Amino acid sequence: MTSTPTTDHSTSGATPGAAARHKDVVREAARRRTFAVISHPDAGKSTLTEALALHAQVITEAGAVHGKAGRRSTVSDWMEMEKERGISITSAALQFSYDGHVVNLVDTPGHSDFSEDTYRVLSAVDAAVMLVDAAKGLEPQTLKLFRVCKARGIPVITVINKWDRPGLDALTLMEEIQEKIKLVPTPLTWPVGIAGDFRGVLDRRSGDYIAYTRTAGGATRAPEARMGGDAAAAQVGDVWHAAVEESELLSSDGADHDQDLFLSGFTTPVLFASAISNFGVSAVLETLVELAPPAVPFRHGPEDSEGRPLEVRDVTAPFSAFVFKVQAGMDTNHRDRVAFARVCSGVFERGMIATHAQTGRPFATKYAQAIFGRERAVIDTAYPGDIIGLVNAMALKIGDTIYVDEPVSFPPIATFAPEHFAVATAKDSGRFKQFRRGIDQLDGEGVVQVLRSDLRGQQSPVLAAVGPMQFEVAQARMESEFGAPVRLEPLSYTQARRTDAASAPELARVRGVEVMERNDGTLLALLPDKWRVTVIERDHPELTLEPLIAGDR
Ligand code: GDP
Repeated sequence: MTSTPTTDHSTSGATPGAAARHKDVVREAARRRTFAVISHPDAGKSTLTEALALHAQVITEAGAVHGKAGRRSTVSDWMEMEKERGISITSAALQFSYDGHVVNLVDTPGHSDFSEDTYRVLSAVDAAVMLVDAAKGLEPQTLKLFRVCKARGIPVITVINKWDRPGLDALTLMEEIQEKIKLVPTPLTWPVGIAGDFRGVLDRRSGDYIAYTRTAGGATRAPEARMGGDAAAAQVGDVWHAAVEESELLSSDGADHDQDLFLSGFTTPVLFASAISNFGVSAVLETLVELAPPAVPFRHGPEDSEGRPLEVRDVTAPFSAFVFKVQAGMDTNHRDRVAFARVCSGVFERGMIATHAQTGRPFATKYAQAIFGRERAVIDTAYPGDIIGLVNAMALKIGDTIYVDEPVSFPPIATFAPEHFAVATAKDSGRFKQFRRGIDQLDGEGVVQVLRSDLRGQQSPVLAAVGPMQFEVAQARMESEFGAPVRLEPLSYTQARRTDAASAPELARVRGVEVMERNDGTLLALLPDKWRVTVIERDHPELTLEPLIAGDR
């Protein structure tokens, strides 16, 4: 179970025939589970990630992951463990095997200022685990990401965490999910005992009781014991009966799991957990393996009336992959740039020459790696659902496609509407060349969006961000990496809407509104506030003023 999934396949060393290869891909894609954990900061994402790895028997000593010295030591422990146990952990994805499946947990940034990065990760996964803090319920970032999943049809498994502490009532939390995100919660487990006086959970499908036993400091393995209903009643009495009653109430309310409704994004299975004490974590893995979809084929080509691409690249088609993240400067000794790509179809074999769909140029994959901090491991083979790090991929941008044999180009990732804007100028006008190169690089990596207009000229592009911390990152990197310190002068816009060439001149005449162009050719109208958007929509219904992501207003 702890062998390296990337080499754990039957084709090593042999050149299988086409039929065997087809079977190989079908089998490997079917056992992949590629997902991201999304949550508001502090809900326990890091704790859950570490606990998942523990339960996958990648890490057997809880002490190693809950080390007192803090996260930094945890990270280095993982690097050692990566070598020891042959698992691959990258800063983009953690891969481990569980119950005959290969699980790819794709990393998302913790801070809400980088929610656009999280959004891009969601374009590369087949399912999401939504982590909710039992005491806080649905928080702003949770809501935003939940809506993105719903809009994109990504099945979501909800985990209510920190149930060991006082928190909201379980039924209240279910109502909140239903009301605020219009997803019907279908709890798979139901808490026995209220938050803070947590006894365990009722496994609603088997009727079993899974007792939670507090162990000192959340020691080595999961403090869980499974027993039947009678034993549960004898052990905890009233609270068991109350849980059973509530569960029956849920059933009569239609809150039972239905696989089709879950996969089509109407319902969300819910689990109750205490990640810090490893309770409910194996249920998360079991749910992923049992209910989450395998590597899902990617769509492309012309769109239907709802904006859904009509063609499907089957997982058994020749190799193709989709770039969802680009990162430079990971290795300070080399000026490198790594493109992280999700394998969409076929088998990836290191050394293969693919075609970069956007330029038509060949792309050599000699340097494919699994990357984690400064630690790198070579990836030789990867299957649909897997994440590969392509080193020295100078030409690859976010949203790009690489393929072999049969051409394909997956649709680009839509961008969030930026809410913060600032004019950037080089502090040292003699370093304009470096300034320009740096700004283009940050644009290509999606660190910030870069907007230009004839009015402002090339010397002073506008940087646009979803969260202000993106500016800090851009400023720091412009100085340290490109030797071109920038001055940022904030603009008072808070809204951006997509417009078109026909509407642009009229919009630009409205006081307080400016129209700028993004490097993908999109024209953006920048507006001071929502009120101004409403007024223009009312007074000039003929003008194009659309949200950047459908439903994102
Ligand atoms: P992240 O920001 O989402 O990655 O959250 P962390 O994993 O860093 O957790 C935030 C804080 O919540 C830390 O102090 C954790 O120890 C704590 N925490 C995480 N999970 C639980 C849990 O199940 N119960 C309790 N009581 N605390 C938790």
